Amino acid sequence: MAERVAVVGGGVIGCAVAERLARDGHQVTLFERDAVGAHASGAAAGLLGPHSESVDQGPDFADLGARSYRLFPELAARLERDTGIGIEYQEMDSVRLGFDAPAGAGWTAAAEVRRLEPALSDEFQSARIFKEAQLTPPRFVRALAAAAVRSGAEIREGELVTAVTGEGIRLGTGRFDADHVVLAAGPWSAALAAVDVEPRRGQLVALLPRSPVLTRIVTWDRYYLVPKPEGTVVIGSTEEQEAGFDARPTAAGISEVLQVALRTVPALAGASVQRVWAGIRPATPEGLPIVRRSESTPNLVLATGHHRNGILLAPITAEIVSSLI
Ligand code: FAD
Repeated sequence: MAERVAVVGGGVIGCAVAERLARDGHQVTLFERDAVGAHASGAAAGLLGPHSESVDQGPDFADLGARSYRLFPELAARLERDTGIGIEYQEMDSVRLGFDAPAGAGWTAAAEVRRLEPALSDEFQSARIFKEAQLTPPRFVRALAAAAVRSGAEIREGELVTAVTGEGIRLGTGRFDADHVVLAAGPWSAALAAVDVEPRRGQLVALLPRSPVLTRIVTWDRYYLVPKPEGTVVIGSTEEQEAGFDARPTAAGISEVLQVALRTVPALAGASVQRVWAGIRPATPEGLPIVRRSESTPNLVLATGHHRNGILLAPITAEIVSSLI
């Protein structure tokens, strides 16, 4: 049955949900306070790392990440065909460096890895190699929004939602009644519903080396270096709790990221700095997103708290929300 659905938030999660629900035949209106993709979703590095990101996160994340990852080839092709916006989806190996792990039990010896990626530093002992992927996040969000509109959704930018009620939402300009509300307001979600999500800033640097230094994604600890199609390497990221909603890059944060870059690939010392920027991730205490019906507000579905992996998890989140509506 076609339902009237209000989606709050035009990040990657809100846009993926709107696209999926509009394709299901629902009457979808998305409300975005600023512009689509204006916050974390447009700032992300674009790594789709179900394996490298699950090293520290346990089986529940690994399962969700793997399920979402499998949806990308078809989704990328469909978005490009239907909207004309290519999202630069690219499957590539990723190398997870182990500074203490000896070779064996799935870990490849450092000498072998350096044959594949000669610019890597000689500090690490071994590495694991995964099949992963990347894309260009601002394009991904734009393509999802365009596909949602093509399927009949309405996207209202510059519309602040001031409250979520059992009957719909309240806006600065009045109210909007809906059968269901999907809350996808990222780190701001806790202002509109009882949900345990808090802001966690991440800072990024894009460097342009004189000639290519990496052909694979490289990760270690919470850091990554992602070679981009236009020749830059995007390096991230900090995880800062105390910054609140301040999305400005800082001297200390950029210094941390640059040290990671040079420790991992010393040849990046001569690269030019193309851009520094930051975004605010929606973090949860368990590290897993919250995608379920609200226990306290009728007709409210929560779709938030994707922390470091909202780009990766957007397609599976949209599937889950579709099954809940
Ligand atoms: P957001 O993008 O924050 O969108 C929420 C939207 O809701 C905003 O546009 C906001 O304006 C709107 N909003 C809020 N309140 C209201 C209101 N009251 N009324 C109307 N609108 C409202 N993930 C990956 O998978 N791979 C990566 O490589 C990656 N790299 C990252 C690097 C950095 C530096 C950062 C910060 C994040 C990274 N992430 C990555 C994580 C990913 O970006 C986030 O998990 C994801 O963008 C969260 O999407 P969202 O839609 O929930 O939130």
